[in-house]
Amino acid sequence: MKHFFSLTREELRKDFNKEPYRADQLLNWVYKHFQTDFEKMSNLPKGLRQELSSMYSFWSLELITTLKAEDAIKFLFKTKDGLKIESVLIFEKDHTTLCVSSQVGCAIGCRFCATAKDGLLRNLQPHEIVEQYMQVSILTGERARNVVFMGMGEPLANYESVRKAAQILVSSWGLDLSKRRISISTSGLIAQIKKMSNDPLMRDLNLAVSINAPNQSLRLNLMPISQTNTLNDLFQALYDYPLSKGRRIMLEYVLISGLNDSPKHALELLPYILKKPGKFKVNLIPYNEEPGSNFKRPPMERILAFQEVLTSHHVMTHIRFSKGKDILGACGQLRSAYNPSLCG
Ligand code: SF4
Repeated sequence: MKHFFSLTREELRKDFNKEPYRADQLLNWVYKHFQTDFEKMSNLPKGLRQELSSMYSFWSLELITTLKAEDAIKFLFKTKDGLKIESVLIFEKDHTTLCVSSQVGCAIGCRFCATAKDGLLRNLQPHEIVEQYMQVSILTGERARNVVFMGMGEPLANYESVRKAAQILVSSWGLDLSKRRISISTSGLIAQIKKMSNDPLMRDLNLAVSINAPNQSLRLNLMPISQTNTLNDLFQALYDYPLSKGRRIMLEYVLISGLNDSPKHALELLPYILKKPGKFKVNLIPYNEEPGSNFKRPPMERILAFQEVLTSHHVMTHIRFSKGKDILGACGQLRSAYNPSLCG
């Protein structure tokens, strides 16, 4: 049986051979009406409905539990092979954002990240990524306007699956979300960023890059990936990255008390940004403290002092307080409190 949420319209149409319009009817039921019961797809002939149920399956993630905070809901799912992944639905003022996982665990090893502690268990398949959106939509009745690949995993290390899932998310025959509302957040894999820049589908999505330090040695200390993807080379790739009018690359900077959060650090970061003013905006993310971690969140005045250095040089800067911090649903902290194998 094929996983429906992994199929593009083209692939489905091939299955329907002489009646490709049936594929469109099916897609319409699933992605426009969130209907996954073949028996209720009333414009399909009865015989075909029966046939479909032996051709396609929808669900491969089992919901284990949800955890609610005022501004977010975390969903813990179990995959068919018994692994745990998480998604977080975040309530903003006038819309919702879904943070999805792209891998089980992560091989990148950022020191401030809870997911990193488990290493990489496996890549998620496209259907397991799309299904996170479908399940959360059906469970909550909320259709998230934004999708951010900021959950477990390095999305660009699972490029083809993420690409296919993104295709289903943004296609008019699929979930029809705006490309501008999908963000791919990477630790800075230069080769994959270059690949993305040559890929018309991926290039139109938002690119967010974790910088987290103003110099190579500090970044290497926080992000081992810097060994082979140095800060200078990373910025060069970002300078070369083609952007359509009005778009910017988001530079993500997790502020950790006493480590990378002084005005001096902000001053050191500035030349990288000012080399191509207008190309970047900076998201400052005060570290979300996790039990057992030695890292601390900086006090507010220090966060503001860091921001002031950037804004006084006309760098567009937002302080992004992680939503759902009560349930550890913040960036890099999607690691289940329910899963002994993940909690270590
Ligand atoms: S921050 Fe992202 S890339 Fe780094 S270890 Fe965590 S999940 Fe992986």
